[in-house]
Amino acid sequence: MEFEEERALLIRSLKKYGISDKVLSAMEEVPRHFFIPQSESGRAYVDTPLPIGNSQTISAPHMVAIMCNLLELEEGQHVLEIGTGSGYNAAVMSRLVGDSGRIYSIERIEELAIFAQKNLKRAGCSNVEVLRDDGSSGYPLKAPYDRICVTASAPETPLALIEQLKTGGIMVIPEGGSYQQLFAIKKNEDGSIVKKKWGDVFFVPLIGKYGFKN
Ligand code: SAM
Repeated sequence: MEFEEERALLIRSLKKYGISDKVLSAMEEVPRHFFIPQSESGRAYVDTPLPIGNSQTISAPHMVAIMCNLLELEEGQHVLEIGTGSGYNAAVMSRLVGDSGRIYSIERIEELAIFAQKNLKRAGCSNVEVLRDDGSSGYPLKAPYDRICVTASAPETPLALIEQLKTGGIMVIPEGGSYQQLFAIKKNEDGSIVKKKWGDVFFVPLIGKYGFKN
């Protein structure tokens, strides 16, 4: 089948990051070449970010794997994603939460929201809802969420997102401008927050009310 061998090789190479078998299997099921422009399809299974138009990128596969791993996603969970981009990360999360789960993914650029919707449909992800909006204030309508995944870098974690996280929930978010770090934030049962740094990263900026200004 098209690209299957390249995909399997790429996924195998991600084991060195300590990614769970569950996340690796979900990534093996999602055809990344469905989520990039035709002109980039030759690099679909190279571990690198790729341009998707509007000066935005699909994240590198190892970064998607690391974020999904930190999120500890389980069947049936409700997840908020800020920064749909191509829809690829949403598709991997969609496999991890299964048919009983749901992904609400917000994208500020209309053209990308439409691109992602088309890609997700082609990949058979029926449990993902893409919304066109500024996601820096979250999506209160469907809150609280078991998990929140932010795929663009914020000046600091918006309070609104912490409020929309369930107790016991996990949020993964990059923070910073030219120097960025990825954090996993857990909300304990008593409402207190534990924030753990994963390491240095490089994401496009979160632009919006509680992000950077355009
Ligand atoms: N998760 C994506 C994927 O799998 O292709 C990659 C995301 S890309 C690194 C970050 C995305 O965040 C961009 O598409 C950008 O337009 C979007 N973004 C930036 N600020 C945003 C905001 N305030 N609300 C929603 N989306 C935002």
